[in-house]
Amino acid sequence: MSANPAPRSRPTALTHEVTNQPPPLTGHDVAEDAVLLEGVDREGASWHTGDLHLLGRFAGGEEAQEWADQANRHEPVLRTHDRYGHRVDEVDFHPAYHRLMEKSVGAGLAGAAWADERPGAHVARAAGFMVMSTLEPGHLCPVSMTYAVVPALRHAPDVAKAYEPLLTSRAYEAGLRTPTEKSGLLAGMGMTEKQGGTDVRANTTSATEAADGTWRLRGHKWFTSAPMNDLFLVLAQAPGGLSCFLVPRVLPDGSRNTFRIQRLKDKLGNRANASSEPEFDDTVAWLVGAEGRGVRTIIDMVTMTRLDCVLGSASGTRAALAQAAHHARHRSVFGAKLVEQPLMRNVLGDLSLESEAATTLALRLAGAADRAQRGDARERAFLRLATAVGKYWVCKRQPAAVAEALECLGGNGYDEASGMPRLYREAPLNGIWEGSGNVNALDMLRALEREPESFDAFRAEIEAASGADRRLDSAWQELRGELVLTEDAPLRARRLIERAALVLQGSLLVRHAPAAVADAFCASRLGGDRGLVFGTLPPGTDFAGLLERLPA
Ligand SMILES: Cc1cc2nc3c(=O)[nH]c(=O)nc-3n(C[C@H](O)[C@H](O)[C@H](O)COP(=O)(O)OP(=O)(O)OC[C@H]3O[C@@H](n4cnc5c(N)ncnc54)[C@H](O)[C@@H]3O)c2cc1C
Repeated sequence: MSANPAPRSRPTALTHEVTNQPPPLTGHDVAEDAVLLEGVDREGASWHTGDLHLLGRFAGGEEAQEWADQANRHEPVLRTHDRYGHRVDEVDFHPAYHRLMEKSVGAGLAGAAWADERPGAHVARAAGFMVMSTLEPGHLCPVSMTYAVVPALRHAPDVAKAYEPLLTSRAYEAGLRTPTEKSGLLAGMGMTEKQGGTDVRANTTSATEAADGTWRLRGHKWFTSAPMNDLFLVLAQAPGGLSCFLVPRVLPDGSRNTFRIQRLKDKLGNRANASSEPEFDDTVAWLVGAEGRGVRTIIDMVTMTRLDCVLGSASGTRAALAQAAHHARHRSVFGAKLVEQPLMRNVLGDLSLESEAATTLALRLAGAADRAQRGDARERAFLRLATAVGKYWVCKRQPAAVAEALECLGGNGYDEASGMPRLYREAPLNGIWEGSGNVNALDMLRALEREPESFDAFRAEIEAASGADRRLDSAWQELRGELVLTEDAPLRARRLIERAALVLQGSLLVRHAPAAVADAFCASRLGGDRGLVFGTLPPGTDFAGLLERLPA
């Protein structure tokens, strides 16, 4: 993607002329996308369209794509000691990573939405996050955690008062310094330990209260991403039970807190982002929320990062589809463009459906988050259940959709220069972190059992489309019959959450998408008229209508 190909008309080798190779997809506006723009408008952030296009043109530009490629290729490097042998525990990033961070934080994708009182501020931020995710998603991990930490930190009002203005800042200031002396801060989280990630009750890191009311942590974490961030919410066992603590990397007096990075993970994807194994030893921390209520406190952060997983997966799917569509529009086989070949139209149309359903759901969740934090109780209840459903399904569908989009490019898709391998390696991640597939499926059951208002809000959302499509109505009836919390419910949880996701997406598309999209979705995803892989939509599908919705 980054290489500038020679003009197509000139021979580039002595033996042959290069023809029929698509131009690179660059110099376009990533936000010039009807599905994205309609969603932003619907969820209350049309005022952001101008800025979104600016960001979209940046993300579609050659320089940004070069940075994405470089940040991904030149992985962060751990520096445990300085040249004199002092422990420093720092991570060095390629300059391209810093450029991307500067752009994303500057665009308000970190904490800024929490300081923006305009209705739709969180939707605007979500759309920007989706646009930047098309570049190099790894750099958005610290951005996402900084966004997400704000509501959790408010459980400690004094601490929040000191740090929230810096977490909501649009200034990116890399490097470890006294937090209050920086113009902007970034935050991370440390929950997962060796003996348990999902089951955080198994955490062994201990917390002891010091005479001055601060705490001291001792123990380890197995995954703590973005270790160069300034502040971390960390779970540790206090005498009163598992509790949430704020750990700064630099203490208020300017000295380094103990945060020994043992090593960085050698990861499948997400390679621009550093994920570390830190150890705490007499590490200074402040209690956030009540002692013994650590999970209850940090869940306010996890809810928001789960939302970002949905946004990121919807965006990763769409970015791959944009590449596939671009290739198919320019590449000819057997005398016709790929995009005109009936079977390729079926593949692209099916992918387009999947992508529109994912994007529409992701933005609906962002809208709910926006309204929930402005006091809308029904939207809060909807978000509780729908986030688990969306996180499960949109993240689970991403790897299959990206693999199919990659195949649309043929062998070129396997070439790093196409950018597709980067999207492919990134694809499974959102399904794992912040609660893996099973965890979200079981979380849906928990919400149904303990928070009946979340089901009421979910039902109201689906039934807003009642009577509009018989396949949707009957899929919902069937699901309601199965949503009985019997003893075997955990065994059935994936069946239930998959159907809940499809019915929710169907309801949204029936109300908001063009008829071609809604009809094909209901026929294939709810009516069962589809095979197990992409490209199996039934004859009679309005493929022209589906392909009109392709991005780029
Ligand atoms: C790139 C990357 C970055 C990360 N960054 C961070 C970070 O910054 N901070 C942090 O704290 N963590 C981080 N994590 C860790 C991540 O959140 C955990 O890996 C994840 O929560 C799963 O925990 P685990 O690895 O311990 O797996 P386990 O908890 O052992 O789960 C293994 C499998 O069992 C399933 N499972 C769990 N419980 C049940 C059940 N009751 N029934 C059925 N199946 C179940 C899970 O769905 C999963 O598929 C990161 C992970 C990755 C890959």
